[in-house]
Amino acid sequence: MGGETIFCESMVGMETVDAFIEKVSAIYGEDQAASIGRAVDFGMQAHREQFRHSGEPYITHPCHVAEILIDLGMDADTITAAVLHDVLEDTLATFDDVKNMFGESVARLVDGVTKLSRLGFFSREERQAESLRKMFVAMANDIRVIMIKLADRLHNMRTLQYVEAQKQMRIANETLEIYSPLAHRLGIYAFKAELDDLAFRYLKPEVFFELEKKVKAVRASQDQQMHEVMNVIRERLEQVSIKADFEGRPKTIYSIYKKMVAQEKPFEEIYDLTAMRVIVESVKDCYTVLGIIHTLWKPLPGRFKDYIAVPSQNMYQSLHTTCLGAGGVPFEVQIRTYDMHRTAEYGIAAHWKYKEKRKGESDLDSKLAWLRQLLEWQSDMKDSQEFMDSLKIDFFSDDVLVFTPKGTVVDLVKGSTPIDFAFTIHTAIGTNCVGAKVNGRLVPLDYKLETGDIVEIITSKHSAGPSRDWLNIVKTSQAKTKIKHWLKKEFREENIIKGKDMLENAARRQGFSLPQLLKTEWLEPVYKKYTLGSVEDLYAAVGYGGVQTSRVLTRLIEEYRKENKIEIEQARVGPLAARRPKRPIDHGVLVKGEPDIMVRFAKCCTPLPGDDIVGYITRGRGVSVHQRDCVNLKDLEDFENRRVEVTWANENNRAYLAEIQVMAQDRAGLLMEISQLLNNMNLSALSVNARVTKNKTAFINFSVEINDTQMLDKIIKQIRNLPDVTRVFRSHA
Ligand code: MN
Repeated sequence: MGGETIFCESMVGMETVDAFIEKVSAIYGEDQAASIGRAVDFGMQAHREQFRHSGEPYITHPCHVAEILIDLGMDADTITAAVLHDVLEDTLATFDDVKNMFGESVARLVDGVTKLSRLGFFSREERQAESLRKMFVAMANDIRVIMIKLADRLHNMRTLQYVEAQKQMRIANETLEIYSPLAHRLGIYAFKAELDDLAFRYLKPEVFFELEKKVKAVRASQDQQMHEVMNVIRERLEQVSIKADFEGRPKTIYSIYKKMVAQEKPFEEIYDLTAMRVIVESVKDCYTVLGIIHTLWKPLPGRFKDYIAVPSQNMYQSLHTTCLGAGGVPFEVQIRTYDMHRTAEYGIAAHWKYKEKRKGESDLDSKLAWLRQLLEWQSDMKDSQEFMDSLKIDFFSDDVLVFTPKGTVVDLVKGSTPIDFAFTIHTAIGTNCVGAKVNGRLVPLDYKLETGDIVEIITSKHSAGPSRDWLNIVKTSQAKTKIKHWLKKEFREENIIKGKDMLENAARRQGFSLPQLLKTEWLEPVYKKYTLGSVEDLYAAVGYGGVQTSRVLTRLIEEYRKENKIEIEQARVGPLAARRPKRPIDHGVLVKGEPDIMVRFAKCCTPLPGDDIVGYITRGRGVSVHQRDCVNLKDLEDFENRRVEVTWANENNRAYLAEIQVMAQDRAGLLMEISQLLNNMNLSALSVNARVTKNKTAFINFSVEINDTQMLDKIIKQIRNLPDVTRVFRSHA
């Protein structure tokens, strides 16, 4: 973060830089050391106007951060990136500058750290801590980024005394909530221990210093006891030829405090101020040591923990046992192998520190996967199924975690846009949203948010409100619902007009006029289904997209059909198979001299009683009857020889098929009116075929069963009288 601009002598702090360069040269190869050296020069130049709160030149900070990482055994790229970790955030240097000088890998690390710097907007809400930790890991696409950030925080905590009191509290709080748990999850004990105590010191200074004093006072005598115990164990192990190292690690003030709080004990009853460790070569030796200790001292029931058989979340492995020592004072021993010890100390960093000794170790990516899994892992996970489920969540994670400008984390689904974000914050922010800034830059409203983005919504009281297009942009169902709700309320008048229009058009396409279908008793079930109160509500609902026209119309048309006994299928647009007349209609014609011959009416001219007709003897299908002036006659094979005279039998109860074509200006309800008209004449159309041309001319063809030509004339006349009908004629196929 940017330092103060007080002028300081430029030589101050140079010894830090020199010492750092020296250390680098001692550890890394010539080329790598040279690269790190160039990074120091670059950083010095970039930060030359900046100073730490301590008054030192700014470059001392990244050098210290890099040094912490050297002690952790990190690779040269990490060290180079650590030296440069603040240049993108605080200076004019760009990603490309860093990339050109130090390569893609270093540039990516620096960029990653810079992105994490945005997490300086931490919320103070405790419940957010887990989300923030999750986000932290999700954002760092390289675990080394997290390592640099942790080292950065460690050095900032070490120099926190120069910072103003209020900021101290905020940073210390953040450290305890985010950084220390992360260090713990990564298993980097040294980081965690130091971060804990530094944070605790600033958050509860009285308690910290009081405890520190008490610890100092009794540690000497406790350590004396510990050494006596160690000596006894060492003697026994020598007898059975087990090689072992012993270690006493003072526990942190913060962990002692937490233990007092958790166990509700005064300081005087906390006996393990120092953790005693026995480190051996094999797992078998661990259990042997445990057995020996348990034969020497009485173990306290319930205090033995086997973290070798069941490692803890951060890969930590050890045997823990507490026994009653001399004078009834309990002591705790941790038993582990050297390998386990490394993991306990360095956690994930052991990967770098000891990599040359660990052949076939899984690669970084799987380490990172492991870490991500850890963060998802609930400590109270009960069985393996739950574990598998948590893996799934991890691998198919759909979360995008973003910040409000004030630093509150907002959890969204992948693909979410600023509009989703806005509606998640508040409905009013969503509806008044006119634009969005992500990380300070204006973005289009369909911008896909990424984890770590800081999203700022620009609102206006004069905003026109959500547009219908937003429904296609948003990802969260919450936003969708809210937008629909708003459109519904805000545009009621428009929606009513639009919805009515939509329904009318849809009804017309099915051959109905809307008023025909809107009978109150038919509408009731529709209202009920969609919780509407009136036909206006229905129009509005259709208008804003809440109810589909087809859903409503299907129901209403069905009702209409029931009441009017009309075959829906026939009223539909499009060619439909003609239904065969129920009665045979081949009896109304007499064939001269052949009373029993089968008679059919030709489809080309469909003669009707009254028409002048002629017969044609077909091959095997009886006589077909044509109108005498049918144009097809001359084309019939051997017509002159096969023709036969036929006459009408004058029986009025016979039915014949007539094909009628109507040409009209297309409008709603026309087809229905024709149906009604036929209905009134006790006729029904047997097949209907309607089409509308581009210039809105409708052609309706239908066939109808009639008895004679008078009836046909009547039909034609009546249809001709319908509004908008231009032509009606008997058609010949
Ligand atoms: Mn920094």
